[in-house]
Amino acid sequence: MRLLQDSDRIHLVDRKERHYALTLKKGKVFQYSGETIEHDALIGIEDGVRVTFSRGTQMTVLLPTLAEYVLKMPRGAQVIYPKDLAIILIWADIFPGARVVEAGAGSGALTMTLLRAVGEKGRVFSYEIREDFARCAQTNVNQFLGEMDTWELCQQDITEGISQGGVDRLILDLPEPWHVVSPALEALRSGGIFLSYLPTVPQVDRLVTQLRASQEFGLIRTQETLLRSWNVDGRSVRPDHRMVAHTGFITTARRIQSPHRSP
Ligand code: SAH
Repeated sequence: MRLLQDSDRIHLVDRKERHYALTLKKGKVFQYSGETIEHDALIGIEDGVRVTFSRGTQMTVLLPTLAEYVLKMPRGAQVIYPKDLAIILIWADIFPGARVVEAGAGSGALTMTLLRAVGEKGRVFSYEIREDFARCAQTNVNQFLGEMDTWELCQQDITEGISQGGVDRLILDLPEPWHVVSPALEALRSGGIFLSYLPTVPQVDRLVTQLRASQEFGLIRTQETLLRSWNVDGRSVRPDHRMVAHTGFITTARRIQSPHRSP
């Protein structure tokens, strides 16, 4: 059983499944459309319980899933959407114990996803060039996962070099990943995976050209994901009218040693 505690980030979910995010604090009051509920009435109750506001409105109180948290947390930079976070985990083959480098940390959505996947024996090194975004990522990650000793946040420009060696996976969500191909050659172990998330075709084209030119990457492939939700309600069983149609292209490549480098 998980009871809600002071300083937990929770979501109140109404009948239309709209989420309202708040951080529990003793003595505070949450207001919604002229109605109120005291935080003290929420602290100590179980995750997943329906609660009643001052004038009778009911909502469900939930500890958010990672996907729910990411969509409601304070943002500096645009986050990677859950549909892409999910697919990045499998195509970058993130495994428990992996040594992962990512850039830029942005709002920390990908960071949290990676930290959960690498587990207690893994390591995540997150590069972020902007101090304000680094702070935003730090706050979001700590709020959702607590203090993580498997995480290192480096406030550095990743194009200037990657300090870590023997890296299993390198994940890039920044506008000019072709400038990271050369540092990646030093950091990634042989057989390691390079993954880049990019919104436009010219960026993908330039990156793939650079990866091929290096002759140190193989199995270069680009894919995208379209996820369509459905309305299932009585006789109306059909796809939803709206969807997130475009987010980004995912390019992956394996670090391959060229023969002249072999001993
Ligand atoms: N993946 C993040 C969002 C990243 S947005 C998330 O899911 O929340 C892109 C980030 O890359 C921005 O914060 C930007 O400041 C950072 N960035 C851009 N170029 C960079 C570089 N050369 N080195 C490190 N960070 C960089």
